[in-house]
Amino acid sequence: MSVWDDLVGQEKVSGQLDAAARDADALVTAVAAHTPPPEASKMTHAWLFTGPPGSGRSTAARAFAAALQCVSPDRALGGAPGCGFCDGCHTSLIGTHADVQIVRTDLLSIGVKETRDLVRRAQLSPAGGRWQVIVLEDADRLTEGAGNVLLKAVEEPAPRTVWLLCAPSLEDVLPTIRSRCRHLTLRTPPVAAVADVLVRRDGIEPHVADAVARATQGHIGRARRLATDERARSRRAAVLRLPLRVDDVGGCLKAAQELIDAASEDAKQVSEESDGKETEDMKAALGAAQGGRMPRGTAGVMKDLEDRQKRRRTRTQRDSLDLALIDLTAFYRDVLALQFGTDLALANTEMFDTLDRLARGSSPEATLRRIEAIAACRVALDRNVAPLLAVEAMTMALRAG
Ligand SMILES: [Zn+2]
Repeated sequence: MSVWDDLVGQEKVSGQLDAAARDADALVTAVAAHTPPPEASKMTHAWLFTGPPGSGRSTAARAFAAALQCVSPDRALGGAPGCGFCDGCHTSLIGTHADVQIVRTDLLSIGVKETRDLVRRAQLSPAGGRWQVIVLEDADRLTEGAGNVLLKAVEEPAPRTVWLLCAPSLEDVLPTIRSRCRHLTLRTPPVAAVADVLVRRDGIEPHVADAVARATQGHIGRARRLATDERARSRRAAVLRLPLRVDDVGGCLKAAQELIDAASEDAKQVSEESDGKETEDMKAALGAAQGGRMPRGTAGVMKDLEDRQKRRRTRTQRDSLDLALIDLTAFYRDVLALQFGTDLALANTEMFDTLDRLARGSSPEATLRRIEAIAACRVALDRNVAPLLAVEAMTMALRAG
């Protein structure tokens, strides 16, 4: 077992990271022993992990962080760093290592102030004597100003600082930043590999694992959620009934409204789970020194928290809607596959009869137009078009004929 086991279907990337972690370890060992550091090294200070959602960008970054912090005694005997068991590996993987900062945001953007704080932290010497690692899971969400703050830090890193940035694609990161990073591309893992992990690690029944791995087309996190969360399953089933309900204008508008309502419901649930407690915690933290009464000048802090919670609701709503559109796209891709006479890699095998009926009742050109309408809707939502308008335009374009 090693930290690379979690990287499903990414043999090439694991190989590169393993080599870098070995060289990084050799460097730390040489410095500690006051011997000259090795000359050639596959280790570097800034890395950029890209790949489609679900390919495991942040999993790869965390595994690498763990390998850099590995203190397994087996290393002295020629073993590779990244054992997965030692204190360094374990605390890095669960996010409690003192020298591993994992930054993920539930907001739409990361601003200048947060980035300055990170950069300041990155200058610190590692408490454990190895590396100061900062994992930025959503580097695509840096505002331009924040990107420029980060650029300076990536250009002149402290000797033991390592930046691990994750983003969907190279285009999502400022050119100046990405040109200073070593770039690793993750691929969508094969469906069989995802199913295998769900069975081995999560104890999911093989036939369920196979179905959810297919349904999510290799997205491990979503596959796991579908296999274990009844609500996610029924939500998805409702989305996949939509193509049968868009016969007339009334049906289209109703289907659009339901998609929007479902996304709002998700956002509401997330805020019910976290907002109240966050607000109470914040009040307690602010009031503690003042005997329970809210001290003067804290209104601004509370306002910031409210803004943050509002931004999180917006983001949750958007993500939820986007997932529905991804499922719809996979549905019409299945229809298209049947129209082209192949049923080898269908995402929705359990709906074969419905898919087959739609495939026979329309042309490949019509199916392509529908897939394009969904893609256009996703672009519109990304550009902040009013969600209901964008989704209505899409459901109207999905109509038969
Ligand atoms: Zn270890």
